[in-house]
Amino acid sequence: AKLDGKGLARRFDPELQRQARERQQMEIDLAQALIRNEFEVHYQPLVDPRTLEVKAAEALVRWRHPGRGLVSPVDFITVAEETGLISGIGSWVLSRACQDAASWPSHMRIAVNLSPTQFRDPALIETIMGALSASGLPPQRLVLEITEGVLLLDEARTLTTLELLRAYGIGLAMDDFGTGYASLGYLRRFPFSKIKIDRSFVRDLPADRGCAAIFQAIVALAGALNMSITVEGVETVEQLNFAAEEGCDLVQGYYLSRPLPLAEFHLFLNRREAA
Ligand code: C2E
Ligand code: CA
Ligand code: CA
Ligand code: CA
Repeated sequence: AKLDGKGLARRFDPELQRQARERQQMEIDLAQALIRNEFEVHYQPLVDPRTLEVKAAEALVRWRHPGRGLVSPVDFITVAEETGLISGIGSWVLSRACQDAASWPSHMRIAVNLSPTQFRDPALIETIMGALSASGLPPQRLVLEITEGVLLLDEARTLTTLELLRAYGIGLAMDDFGTGYASLGYLRRFPFSKIKIDRSFVRDLPADRGCAAIFQAIVALAGALNMSITVEGVETVEQLNFAAEEGCDLVQGYYLSRPLPLAEFHLFLNRREAA
């Protein structure tokens, strides 16, 4: 009612106004979340589909919001990207993940997601090297997961950065493979060591002939390019067996485990060792 005199405001949809306020509040909360120590990193096992041995984990950030409980990254990463807060959050996740992974068996790798804005940060290499040296984690045990959004940026600079990271021994995975527009060209131009098949190609496997054909083509392509394959979103034993038969290197998904808080992830590892 107070807005009535202001003309235009009256024509605003109350739903849009509510969303704008919520977004503003999210920005305020997010800006404070890091100093309030509200972020957590959960770990989802990446498993060899033949032996079921845990070979790696993907670090996935969660926000323990004092009022809203555990907030998923899908609900705050975009805001964090748009406000630039992702750089601070991303460095924190990287340090945390490297530190946690440094105590795992030495054959295990840790995969960390990098967003486009983090990639544009000129301090990125320093941040990564800092996280590695502070934790003592060898660079060969770190894999950075990158989506096409990163590659759309300044191509020459992106290539230099990626080649530098590869030269240090850090793995590079092309994340969400197949969901973008130019994935094939990028595979040729950039030094990826791994492809992650997006779960949209996995959901209807093994029944859907089209998905199966695309899946098999991606696996063949990765083989020809000497890249390893991780399959996302494995939710059934049939999907696990399909991935194993196709010769995929790693699988990840709810059938094996959801992303777990660190202590539960350690229990998962111990149970696997005992089994
Ligand atoms: P992503 O990189 O594609 O990560 C995989 C997502 O799939 C995760 O969602 C994971 O929990 C979910 N997932 C794993 N297995 C299954 C399954 O069997 N079925 C289904 N339906 N889902 C499965 P999450 O944790 O909500 O993360 C969503 C996205 O947020 C990630 O997608 C990634 O793009 C982004 N993200 C998460 N953590 C970070 C981070 O630390 N930094 C950045 N920049 N982005 C992050
Ligand atoms: Ca990922
Ligand atoms: Ca994905
Ligand atoms: Ca993604």
